[in-house]
Amino acid sequence: MKFELNTIETDVLIIGGGTAGCFSALTLAENSNLKVVIADKANIKRSGCLAAGVNAINAYIGKGETPESFLDYVKRDSEGVIREDLVYSIAKRLNSVTKRLEDLGLPILKDAKGEYVQRGKRSIKINGENIKPLLAEAISGKDNIKILNNVNIVDYLVKEDAVVGAIGFSIKGNIVYQILAKKTICATGGAAGIYKPNNPTFSGHKMWYSPFNTGSGYAMGIRAGAEMTSFEMRFIALRCKDTIAPTGTVAQGIKTVQVNAKGEEYVQKYGKPTTHLRLYSTVMENLKGNGPCFLKTEGISEEQQKELFKAYLNMAPAQTLKWLERDSGPAVENVEIEGTEPYIVGGHTASGYWVDYARKTTLKNLYATGDVAGGSPKKYVTGCLAEAEIAAQSILETLGETYNVSVILDNVEISEQVNEKINHLSNFFTNNEALYNIEEVEEAMQKVMDQYAGGISTAYIYNNRKLGIAAKRIDELLDIVDTLKAKTQKDLLAIFEIIDRLYVSKVLIKHLEARKETRWRCYQENIDYPKKDDQAWLKYVNSVYTDGKLKIVLKELVGRDKEYEHPN
Ligand SMILES: Cc1cc2nc3c(=O)[nH]c(=O)nc-3n(C[C@H](O)[C@H](O)[C@H](O)COP(=O)(O)OP(=O)(O)OC[C@H]3O[C@@H](n4cnc5c(N)ncnc54)[C@H](O)[C@@H]3O)c2cc1C
Repeated sequence: MKFELNTIETDVLIIGGGTAGCFSALTLAENSNLKVVIADKANIKRSGCLAAGVNAINAYIGKGETPESFLDYVKRDSEGVIREDLVYSIAKRLNSVTKRLEDLGLPILKDAKGEYVQRGKRSIKINGENIKPLLAEAISGKDNIKILNNVNIVDYLVKEDAVVGAIGFSIKGNIVYQILAKKTICATGGAAGIYKPNNPTFSGHKMWYSPFNTGSGYAMGIRAGAEMTSFEMRFIALRCKDTIAPTGTVAQGIKTVQVNAKGEEYVQKYGKPTTHLRLYSTVMENLKGNGPCFLKTEGISEEQQKELFKAYLNMAPAQTLKWLERDSGPAVENVEIEGTEPYIVGGHTASGYWVDYARKTTLKNLYATGDVAGGSPKKYVTGCLAEAEIAAQSILETLGETYNVSVILDNVEISEQVNEKINHLSNFFTNNEALYNIEEVEEAMQKVMDQYAGGISTAYIYNNRKLGIAAKRIDELLDIVDTLKAKTQKDLLAIFEIIDRLYVSKVLIKHLEARKETRWRCYQENIDYPKKDDQAWLKYVNSVYTDGKLKIVLKELVGRDKEYEHPN
């Protein structure tokens, strides 16, 4: 494969045109004439987590709630280990970004008084099937925004300790893009497909998180030496069995409870209900032989059943189709639930880049927003928008402090990085037929993580000996992955998706080892450390990868009024 090199200069590069990426671009375009380039591996009209639509805004300050009560809830649910400054800054913007979405055309359900219909204390109902096209539409056709669809970014370009852009390849042609930027925002979402999926064979990609978000933003940062936080706080969704439809739609929609096969309510037996405890209690009931477990819906009214049919058609049609196909419905049978495989998702839990208050990473000129940014769980759509706005506003305030992009163009260090990357990409096409193929290496990675790093097959439990084996196997796979053969651009993409997930796995394993406790049940379940130890617990587990070595750094908790800035 002979690649053609295409160089683009811009003020701001946004990697990932999903929820956060589009909103940062919109904020920049509305408040400046800065040149913005968005590079997305897919087509931003239907890319990322919002591709299929969502039916609720899950982070909203509802009636009787305040930004402070939102922060208290997130802190409680996360057992005290969150970046309070980040969550608080998000909480203060949740309602204004929601209004912004409505102004862009998102239908938000209203009651007779014209007020938003609440689904829960912190959640409102929307008709969100078109939420992503609306965001994409808002930034399309703007003179200063250039959208590069189907471009997979593989690494940052780094000069001294600053990010000066990124390099990626087109999935549709033999073009390599070298994009030079004064500021870069990483908004590539979280990581799916690290663990063996709980749906087999052809349904393997039927997973809760977007299967196309494969942790590449994390991996680029790891390779470039950015500090990462809280990878050990994995996210595992409790979902309707097989269809992976959200349970919240039932639980909050009709205010129901979880019951085991004997019809007993069981969550409270395990402690005060938190998001992870609802999952943990379900896993335990199954282990004790009390499964399967359900959301209790039998006996709901015809009207409520119809509402659920409609609600799921809006965002997880498989659930409604499953009922209809069986001539059944939630009024006549309870809804079976189970956990998914684990994911790394900074929008639900706290894994991601260690960012300051403005969402700057520890690498100069690089920001991170949305699911790829760490420290602030329960962001969801609106939290991602809030972060996107904060980062864009910081860029507007500080753009003057940066390098002249044209100087970078002639920089030897950068052209060496570009040439090296082009060689790396090309080698996959010239590799001899390898001993293993792409699917086999992907499967091997997922199996290792499942069996040795707390996947679904081990009830999410692991110990240090198992983690040691996982670490070794992942390193072996990192060697093997370079021998893979690509015949097409799609193969090349698949190879890079594995490389990135292997880097994420490597960091994840180290973080799982480093937290010597077990309090985020299931998310982080180290059987070697069953006892609580507040002193050890109330810290952030951070890491930095330099010269091929991963170093764990423990950091003190940051309070709500701190507005944390990086020391350097
Ligand atoms: C199934 C599901 C249901 C959800 N339901 C709700 C809900 O009902 N309510 C709610 O409030 N929240 C919900 N959420 C959460 C919410 O959707 C996410 O937190 C949010 O959309 C994440 O935004 P993001 O910008 O970080 O990532 P995304 O919107 O996923 O954007 C990431 C973008 O990066 C691109 N990308 C990835 N890698 C690369 C690369 N290497 N190069 C270039 N581009 C790349 C992707 O194509 C994608 O466009 C849900 C999430 C999921 C997965």
